[in-house]
Amino acid sequence: MFDILLKQFVMAEQGLEKPVAKAAEKVAEVASLSEFSNLGYLVASVLFIMGIKGLTHPRTAVRGNLLGAAGMLIAVLVTLVGGQVSWPVAIAGIAVGTAAGTWFANTVQMTQMPQLVALFNGFGGIASVLVAGAEVLRSAPTSGNIAVAGLAAGLAGLIGSVTFTGSLVAAGKLQELSQFKKPFSLPGHQIINAVLIAVTLILCLNMMDGSAWEYFLLTTIALVLGVFLVTPIGGADMPVVIALLNSYSGLAASAAGFVINNNVLIVAGALVGASGIILTNIMCKAMNRSLLNVLFAKFEPSADGPSDDEVYAGKIKSTSPEEVAMLLDGVQRVVVVPGYGLAVAQAQHIVREMATLLESEGVTVEYAIHPVAGRMPGHMNVLLAEADVPYDQLKEMDEINPTFSQCDAAIVIGANDVVNPVANTDPSSPIAGMPILNVGDARTVIVVKRSLSPGFAGIPNPLFAADNCLMLFGDAKQVLMELVAALKDR
Ligand code: NDP
Repeated sequence: MFDILLKQFVMAEQGLEKPVAKAAEKVAEVASLSEFSNLGYLVASVLFIMGIKGLTHPRTAVRGNLLGAAGMLIAVLVTLVGGQVSWPVAIAGIAVGTAAGTWFANTVQMTQMPQLVALFNGFGGIASVLVAGAEVLRSAPTSGNIAVAGLAAGLAGLIGSVTFTGSLVAAGKLQELSQFKKPFSLPGHQIINAVLIAVTLILCLNMMDGSAWEYFLLTTIALVLGVFLVTPIGGADMPVVIALLNSYSGLAASAAGFVINNNVLIVAGALVGASGIILTNIMCKAMNRSLLNVLFAKFEPSADGPSDDEVYAGKIKSTSPEEVAMLLDGVQRVVVVPGYGLAVAQAQHIVREMATLLESEGVTVEYAIHPVAGRMPGHMNVLLAEADVPYDQLKEMDEINPTFSQCDAAIVIGANDVVNPVANTDPSSPIAGMPILNVGDARTVIVVKRSLSPGFAGIPNPLFAADNCLMLFGDAKQVLMELVAALKDR
């Protein structure tokens, strides 16, 4: 563009005045369009930041989501008006995206949300690979510096490809597909990974002066690397992997932004990358694991761990809704501990009804929220918000743990791993070191679940055999409906 303007300027210098006027007009037009784009992108970026800020609290989360969506709409419109893309293609993309998004929003169950997030991360990754690949194929990077654009394309290809296949494997694991369910590793798996990482990094650096086929080679190896990196990881480490892949998808988008010289893509990608890393860090802390340990240590139920019989035989006391209703007569403080089973049973509304009944009798009811309860970060907060549980009754683990000893009854609903004391007592356990909710300190513990089946980590839970623990067997929604009826009949 500037070459043409320069030529026109030279022509003008040679006495051709018309072209000068035209060139000046064109410069002004381009400058004002780019100023308009940058202003629009700035507004969109501010909305993204305000959106993320809104997501930090359940009360502002919906507004945060809307602000983020408004930012994205502005970014898309500005890009369309800026003439950087073809309208028909963009509109077709928006139509397909809107249709797919609406379908997912209406059909995917809350319990399948983590898999969906994993797929979204993967799609983000492959989009960056394709955008960078298209630029490499055109051999005309938009960025001023060809080496920087080439390196950025390499990074987008590498990180985006790893994100794509890694996310597909993660989604398969969370969907409990038989092919992915068990952690899988080859002999010398870590060495293979190290070699693949080294090769992809070299190919990535090579992209500063690379060709289309080298980009193809890089992304092909990176796709394999994504599979190899995630297959050995399993069980309770999945939330961290999802958060990390989310961060990768942002970094890939940011790199793609450098390739096509698009400011809003750079900013939005960096925001996703940074927030994903922060969430990864929070999840690692919640499990008392380092990121390296999560990524490179094998998570497997220990073969030496005690069997179900050793833990439970002769020690389980089951109870009934009527008995629990009597037990709750005259209590002062009850703590509800929700877990994955609450989500499966969709028992959040009946839990709220039970709490309201107890509160009407002067009982203090609180909810203990473990950071990795359920199958995605914030899973319990979302469920309880759906049932309009007041936010100030939701207590985080660090806040509520010291208070369990002053609790008359802890009602554990469909939670298992997050209340399993072996995390503190058995260093060989797959959840060793994971901070847990110390429900065993409560005067009485009532555990609502259908059987003695293990939770996500696949290990028995000695809490169920504790002296102060009563098992209320059954589907959480059904059992709680019976409990509410029994509370009303008292
Ligand atoms: P768990 O997976 O440990 O246990 C859930 C329990 O719910 C099961 O023992 C099951 O027992 C019970 N259950 C299932 N369906 C029902 C039902 N309809 N009614 C009553 N109970 C039911 O859940 P937690 O929330 O305690 O722990 C979460 C685990 O998932 C952790 O290991 C965590 O690391 C992992 N994880 C967390 C993610 C996150 O981001 N939050 C993501 C991925 C994994 P039964 O079959 O006997 O009813």
